[in-house]
Amino acid sequence: MMEKTLVIFKPSAMERGFVGQILARFQQKGLIIAGIKMMQLDENILREHYSHLTGKSFFPLLLKSMMASPVIVMCLKGVDAINVVRLMTGATNGREALPGTIRGDFSSSNQENIIHASSSPEDAEAEIKRFFRAEEIFDWTPASIGFVYSPLEMQ
Ligand code: UDP
Ligand code: MG
Repeated sequence: MMEKTLVIFKPSAMERGFVGQILARFQQKGLIIAGIKMMQLDENILREHYSHLTGKSFFPLLLKSMMASPVIVMCLKGVDAINVVRLMTGATNGREALPGTIRGDFSSSNQENIIHASSSPEDAEAEIKRFFRAEEIFDWTPASIGFVYSPLEMQ
């Protein structure tokens, strides 16, 4: 199914200059940029975004880490995009993420792990709404889409 997912280029990607290399991976996979912008996250949006982690002892450090620089938020579109982007992202801990994944290739930390990626259809929908206004998401399709997927896969 054609899906949209949310990716955040975390301060670890911004500070270390990996935005281009990571975006290139998504584009070479055939994912479509449906929305993209730079923003400074604050405590309010992070408490919402990471509500499943607010009770954890590392949460204050996570907050600080995610506010350490502006981030780039991106909405990517593609067939099964939520799962595809999670597979490309790899395990949470960069030391355990497989080589070939973004975290496996660019990080060595459980916290400083380069990108966020939505982990379920419910999360993706809520997260896209959290970071983008409706008019910031563009429902365009590149003319080359027929060379990325079969018509059957796009139904
Ligand atoms: N995190 C951390 N320490 C941990 C677990 C998670 O600092 O022990 C951070 C890490 O940056 C991670 C984020 O919290 O990406 C969200 O955690 P989650 O379990 O949702 O992992 P993810 O979905 O990002 O793989
Ligand atoms: Mg998560």
